[in-house]
Amino acid sequence: MRGEWGVRLRTVSGAGPEVGGRDFSAIAARHQSTVASHFVASKYADVAIVGAGILGIAHAFVLARRGRSVVVFERSPQAAGASVRNFGMIWPIGQPAGKMLEMALRSREIWIEALAAARLPHFATGSLHVVYREDEATVAREFCEVAPKLGYRCQWLGAADVLERSAAVRPERLLGAIWSPTEISVDPRVALPHLPWYLSEQYGVDFRWRTAVTAIDRAEYGATIVCTGHDFETLYPDAFRASGLTRCKLQMMRTGPQPDGWQLGPALAAGLTLRFYESFRVCRTLRALEERIAAETPEYDRFGIHVLVSQTAGRELTIGDSHEYADAVNPFDRAEIDELILRYARGFLHAPETAIAQHWHGVYAKHPDQPYVSFSPEPNVRVVTGTGGAGMTLSFGIAEQTVAQMGL
Ligand SMILES: Cc1cc2nc3c(=O)[nH]c(=O)nc-3n(C[C@H](O)[C@H](O)[C@H](O)COP(=O)(O)OP(=O)(O)OC[C@H]3O[C@@H](n4cnc5c(N)ncnc54)[C@H](O)[C@@H]3O)c2cc1C
Repeated sequence: MRGEWGVRLRTVSGAGPEVGGRDFSAIAARHQSTVASHFVASKYADVAIVGAGILGIAHAFVLARRGRSVVVFERSPQAAGASVRNFGMIWPIGQPAGKMLEMALRSREIWIEALAAARLPHFATGSLHVVYREDEATVAREFCEVAPKLGYRCQWLGAADVLERSAAVRPERLLGAIWSPTEISVDPRVALPHLPWYLSEQYGVDFRWRTAVTAIDRAEYGATIVCTGHDFETLYPDAFRASGLTRCKLQMMRTGPQPDGWQLGPALAAGLTLRFYESFRVCRTLRALEERIAAETPEYDRFGIHVLVSQTAGRELTIGDSHEYADAVNPFDRAEIDELILRYARGFLHAPETAIAQHWHGVYAKHPDQPYVSFSPEPNVRVVTGTGGAGMTLSFGIAEQTVAQMGL
């Protein structure tokens, strides 16, 4: 099944590859020389991948480990989409019980193997959903009763036990938390630039940066996997238009580094999150909580806000987020949304450094009913996207499934 690029791709390329950013100069230097050497060497590839976000990288990783030769085309000088703008949370507890939870747990396993192989840091801290209101505690307790039978490894902790696990949780009026050991955090701004370097070095995966794929002419040999995130217009625009996918914009913030080695410990979520993830829909008591939040603080529903906190390799805290669904993404961020997020975070987060050093937004592709979208617009080509807010969590599991489905 070896062929010249397997498929013919029409590309538009710029200058050579580059990985920039303040912390990555060493990686950038290594990466540039690696890609330059493979650029000439790899004339053939079993599989071409379009897009070097986490989905493209996960597919490249799974294929390379199976001995396939892979080339990845990325239009930017380095990944700059949703995959570097997120919390870096691998978050099985957010997935609904059954096949999505299983996929998230499998994906988590592969993440840990990939991070270990590439010698990249991660924080296996688990997570806490902390609660301060009786209706939140009722939902959290109900979840902890039913969830273990459904495959989750979580338990209810009273306030004293929560404070033992986390120095970052405000003690005033704390009622308890859902503790789950399965969540891990990676630093996306470290992992996304570094994994391509590792894949090039270890498996000879050929990354073509600054190379936009504008057409896939014919799928004659091999295969192409299209992981182009929320770009619905360049490749297969008609299929994307018919897919039901839309875009979601999320506002995010980051503090400066926490002093004196202070650690967040478990990644944090709180009451608003209980109404956000599919997993909590099994709770009969959720409806009352949703109604109270809608009546008391409709602005949090209006902007789809729930609040999560994770920590980066550089000890900053990442805080977000909001959810505004629209095909046309508003390029301008709202100060009001950031203030709502911070107001809520102040209610449960207690950290030495809270000044915000960075604001940004990210965009992901999302389907209204499906956890992700995978379709074949023509033989030997598979489009995989629409992972919504769970692309980091599901990426490696999805990649394994794509490879099995395509018989690669
Ligand atoms: C703010 C935010 C927070 C999030 N937090 C989390 C989290 O904590 N945990 C979690 O599981 N998920 C999270 N997500 C979701 C997750 O980030 C996404 O689901 C995931 O990153 C999508 O990955 P992707 O590879 O499909 O897309 P992208 O990361 O957008 O990558 C697509 C790539 O394709 C390239 N491309 C597009 N068209 C072409 C072309 N024609 N030719 C060449 N290259 C092309 C783009 O330049 C881009 O680099 C979050 C998302 C956001 C925005």
